[in-house]
Amino acid sequence: MSEVHEGGCVCGAVRYRVRGQPVVAMACHCRFCQQRLGTAFALVAYFDEKNIEFIQGQLNLYEHHSDESGRWLKMQFCPRCGTTLTHIAEVRPGLRAIAAGTFDDPDWFKIERHLWVRSKRPWVQIPAGVAEFPQGSAGAPAAKSQ
Ligand SMILES: [Zn+2]
Ligand SMILES: [Zn+2]
Repeated sequence: MSEVHEGGCVCGAVRYRVRGQPVVAMACHCRFCQQRLGTAFALVAYFDEKNIEFIQGQLNLYEHHSDESGRWLKMQFCPRCGTTLTHIAEVRPGLRAIAAGTFDDPDWFKIERHLWVRSKRPWVQIPAGVAEFPQGSAGAPAAKSQ
């Protein structure tokens, strides 16, 4: 009975489907996300890897190693249009992130926390009642257990 949601890249070559709610959904204001997506902050929804299915198209992969931690992050994107759709990160084993702006309905999930707010753009206002972290929150409990 779990909900199913779909999304894809701008050219339509790559499509995915997720089952159920995200384990955690966040806005990330780190400089890395700002640069990799060319925007003010990333919308990232992590799911159990088994609840994500790529139903159409191929993805290219770029492996990035953090200067600070040395940990890897594997970004995957449509080879045709370059839209980044997903990544996996060493810090979140068993989970896969969806670039949440790529959902067909980008409002179906709730952003529960804002990370790396120390490097957010000064004009971005965090909504009241949403958790804020100056840096990452990988060690913080998942939203469901709060
Ligand atoms: Zn594409
Ligand atoms: Zn980030």
